Amino acid sequence: MLHQLEKSENIHQIQERVAGKGSKVDTNKKGSAEDYQGEGSITFYDFSEESKKNFRKTAGVKNSNLSIVVHEMSHQIDEDNGNTGDDQYPNTASDPSEIRAVHTENRGRLIDGLPKRTNYGKDEIDSDKLNNPPNYILPGQKIRNEQKSPNDNRIY
Ligand SMILES: [Zn+2]
Repeated sequence: MLHQLEKSENIHQIQERVAGKGSKVDTNKKGSAEDYQGEGSITFYDFSEESKKNFRKTAGVKNSNLSIVVHEMSHQIDEDNGNTGDDQYPNTASDPSEIRAVHTENRGRLIDGLPKRTNYGKDEIDSDKLNNPPNYILPGQKIRNEQKSPNDNRIY
């Protein structure tokens, strides 16, 4: 995933966010390259203990710097692929972009020995969708309708 973002002609900016506000990714239209797929992004990271406490209270499981980075990187990849058409606002447990991000986050959780996350906010994510997220596009793939099997999903 990082490889695609590094090679992208879009600009993917990263900055620190005020402690306790949580992490997020915004579209960065100014960073979107002309005649290139997708959009640039601005990611705001909040690695504070306060934010981790808030997460644990809401999600019922711990998170880590890696699980945060991997979750937000999924949103960055969606921006870079132009795969944000199904993004819902406000974000909910049925938002396809959040289901993709939590699916990818769970791969990071595995590396850190953390339990799987199965919810977004206070709501459970449909387990079939979490295992096989809608419009899940792997790094370097163009948007296509066919879905890959979950075993083909790898973090690069
Ligand atoms: Zn998210």
